[in-house]
This record gives sequence, C-alpha cells and structure tokens, in this order.
Amino acid sequence: MTSWRPPASQARRDELAVAYARDGYGLLEAVYDGSSPGWLRELPAVDVLRQVLLQNYTRTITADGREVIRRRENEPEGDGLPPGRARIASPDDTHARWGVKREEFWLGYKLHITETCDPPPCTCRTEPAAQQAAAGHSGQSGRGHEHDREHGKGCAQLVFPNLITNVATTDATVTDNQMTEPVHHALAARNLTPGRHYADSGYLSAELVVSALKTHGTALTGPLLADTSAQARAGNGYARADFAIDYDAKTVICPQGKTSVSWTPCTQRGKDAIVATFSASDCGPGPARSLCTTSGKKRRQLTLLPRGLAEAQAAARAAETTIPFQADYARRAGVEGTMNQAVGHGARRARYRGLPKTRLDHVYLACALNLLRLQAYWTGTPLDRQRTSHLARLELALAA
Ligand code: SF4
Repeated sequence: MTSWRPPASQARRDELAVAYARDGYGLLEAVYDGSSPGWLRELPAVDVLRQVLLQNYTRTITADGREVIRRRENEPEGDGLPPGRARIASPDDTHARWGVKREEFWLGYKLHITETCDPPPCTCRTEPAAQQAAAGHSGQSGRGHEHDREHGKGCAQLVFPNLITNVATTDATVTDNQMTEPVHHALAARNLTPGRHYADSGYLSAELVVSALKTHGTALTGPLLADTSAQARAGNGYARADFAIDYDAKTVICPQGKTSVSWTPCTQRGKDAIVATFSASDCGPGPARSLCTTSGKKRRQLTLLPRGLAEAQAAARAAETTIPFQADYARRAGVEGTMNQAVGHGARRARYRGLPKTRLDHVYLACALNLLRLQAYWTGTPLDRQRTSHLARLELALAA
C-alpha cells in the first residue's frame, strides 16, 4: 500500500472508490450470509467496514434489480455526509478525526494543556533555588503555595516553575471553547481551581467568562473572539458593532437610523438569544442594503446576546484594549513554551491508537515535563522556554 498511488484523473478515482465499496458490500453480504460462521460478525474490522460504507456511500436496488452504489456528497447536491465528529477517518484508528485550525488540517486528536503561571520571573536570580530560603506564595492565578522562595539578593519578586495542572485530550473536532468548562471541572475536582485563568481567545466567550466566575470563582481572562459576522470578517459593510442596541426599549437602531420592528427572545443551539429584525420596507433597495445584508428576505436580522452577557462582553472588550490587561495577559505566554516543549517531546504524533491510550500518553508526557521543570527549578538550571521577551515585559510593566 505504501507504494500505491491513486489514479491521476478524478473520474477514475471516483470509479475506483465505487469499486472498493462494491467489494466491501460483497464482503459484508458474505459475512452476514446464513451459512457463514457467526463469529465473523463479531469481528471489530467487520463493524468498521459496515460503518465506513454506511457513512460514505448509498446503495440502492432499482426496480429491475440493478445495484446502484454512489458516494455520499455534501447536501444539497448530494445525499449528505455525517458530521465530522462522527465520521470514521481511518480504519486503523476509529477514534481519530479530521481537525482544522486556520490553514492547518490534521487527522487525530487535540491536546489542551493548563499550567500554573506566576508573574514572569525577573532576571536577578543568581543562586540555585535549592539554596534559597522558603516563604511566599504561588499557584495558578493566585492559589496559596507552601514552598515559595526568595531569589537573588535584595529582590522581592518570587519565582516558581510553571507546572502543568491539567491535560485534556479530545478528538480533533472538539472546539477549544467546548473544553473550557470540562477543564475547570477537572481542576476543581483536584482542588486546583484557579483564581484567574488566562486563555487563548478560542477558549473564551462572554457566556464562559460569566459562568466560570459564577461556578468556580475563576476570572477567565483573555481576548474575546472578534465579531464573526460576514461584514466584520470582510471588514466591509455594517457589522454588529455598528448597531445601537437598547435593551430597555427592546430595539436596535441601524447605521441608517432605522429602528428594528421585532425583538424576539429565543433559544439557539441550547443558548438564550434575541433576534432583532428590521422591516423589509426600511431595508428596501439601496446602496446601504448591499453593505448590510445579503439575506434573501431582503432585510437585516441580528442575533443578540441576552443583556447580562452583552454587558459582560462589552466590559471585557473594553478592558482588553488597556495596557494593564495586556501586561497581565502576558503571563499566558509561558504556555506557548510548554506547547513547544511538548511538541519537542513528540506530542504532535500519537504513539498509540485510540483516544484512551492517546489520553494516557499525554498524561505521562505532562508528568515528565513537570519532572523536568522541577529538576530545573531545584538545580537552578534555566529552561529554554518561550516567553515574552524581557524588553516586552519591561515595556508593559512600566506602562501599567
Ligand atoms: S439594510 Fe436595513 S438595517 Fe441595514 S442599514 Fe439599511 S435600513 Fe438599516
């Protein structure tokens, strides 16, 4: 198989794919034939074949008894494919899924790492930590710690190693923000709930910021995802921020000064939302409409967050432009070094098949990285970790 190359033409490749499917159906028919031994049906490989055929092909028998096998394609042109999270992507590892992040595609899993992040270390440290006195505090975002240390004569700043406190492994289709709550629950179960949790924007939303504070007392800190409306993404036209929302009057005023005609609280994908709609007559033909909507109904509709979440989102967006926020958020830079370190130790390649073993592999990896860090900390050996540069930190600290 390693020397096999698919045919160059698409038509020939499609033909071959259908031929494989026909062979697969023929094999399944033989397995499920009454004269075949029953244990054949119990083979995991047979079940994988059955699922792969079901997920990727349709098979019909015509009135004249002809068998027609077709590859499934996306709707509406085709018969539809199962969602990526359910689709078997490799018969060798039925838990692996195709993932995508920006321009990068990969087959397999996703690893989410959480680590402690104390204030960035100063540069005065000259003695091995083992020789230094113990007193102070550390932990992920302000948790108390018994073994705080002084370092460098006359320096009041405390320094601690960043230790991994949680690893979560999922298939590659699970989005980052689906993991924020499970990570918080996992930390809470081990009594490691952070006071502040610095996260990449993919792990944040107004709803998660509010719920983390309410449920765990954790200040989830990071830049919120930008407006994802088509207009905002294109940087052209009227994005959500261009509309004035009045929650008391339950109206929205558009950039052309028109007022919405309906305000409908609803539930979208299990979450509370409000849909505000403008009238088709207000939105009537004109240059503004092309900047505003491409809807076939020829009027603009906006989906809004409930008031509490909208206010939390506005406050978070305002805060994230300030220098103190950026200085504080710079603490998160350490975890990029951790990801690099994990990649350097083979985290980009699953060594085992299946989610449970891959998950266990990642737990061992995290333990090993923690041991390396503790060893470096106790012996005063600098770790080659990617951090915000001293100059950048100094800039932010002075500005703050
Ligand atoms: S299309 Fe409608 S909502 Fe958009 S700017 Fe024009 S009047 Fe306002």
